[in-house]
Amino acid sequence: MLANGTRMRRISDPVRRLPHYAPIFLLPRMSHPCLSCGACCAAYRVSFHWSEAEAELGGQVPVALTEVLDAHQRCMRGTWAKQPRCVALGGTIGESVACTIYEHRPSVCRELSMAWEHGEPSPQCDKARIAHGLAPLTPEDVARALGRAID
Ligand code: SF4
Ligand code: SF4
Repeated sequence: MLANGTRMRRISDPVRRLPHYAPIFLLPRMSHPCLSCGACCAAYRVSFHWSEAEAELGGQVPVALTEVLDAHQRCMRGTWAKQPRCVALGGTIGESVACTIYEHRPSVCRELSMAWEHGEPSPQCDKARIAHGLAPLTPEDVARALGRAID
C-alpha cells in the first residue's frame, strides 16, 4: 500500500501486493533500456486514487484512459486484465515503446524504478521483464546504456 492509499498487485498473483509499481518513458537518452522494454506496462494492474484522473481536483491522468476499480481507485484501461497491457503504451514490447501520456502518467508509474537505475535492484522490473521473456537488467547493462562508468 502506498502512502496515498493506492496499491498495486501482480495480475497473475492476486494475493501478492507489491509495495509500488511504476513504469516509464520518453526518457532523455534514446538508449535508455526502458525504451526498448515496456514490460512493466504490461505486467501489473496500474491502480491509483481516483483523484489523479479528476481534472477539477488537479488530476492529470486522462480519465478516458482509465476505469473504475472500486470506490477509491481507478486503474489504467487494459491493466485490469488477465494479460495486462496499458492502453497508453505504444510500440512493441521488447523492441521499441513509449508511454503516450508520459507527462500525465499516474503516480504509480513514476514510482517504479528500473533495476539498477539508482544503484539498487528492482524486483518489479525483473519480474516484468522475465514475464515477457526478457533477461533482468544487470548493473553493467544499465551503466553501459546510460553511459556511466562501470565500477
Ligand atoms: S520493466 Fe524495467 S526496464 Fe522494462 S520498462 Fe519497466 S522499468 Fe524499464
Ligand atoms: S500510463 Fe504510461 S507508464 Fe503507466 S503503465 Fe501506462 S504506458 Fe506505462
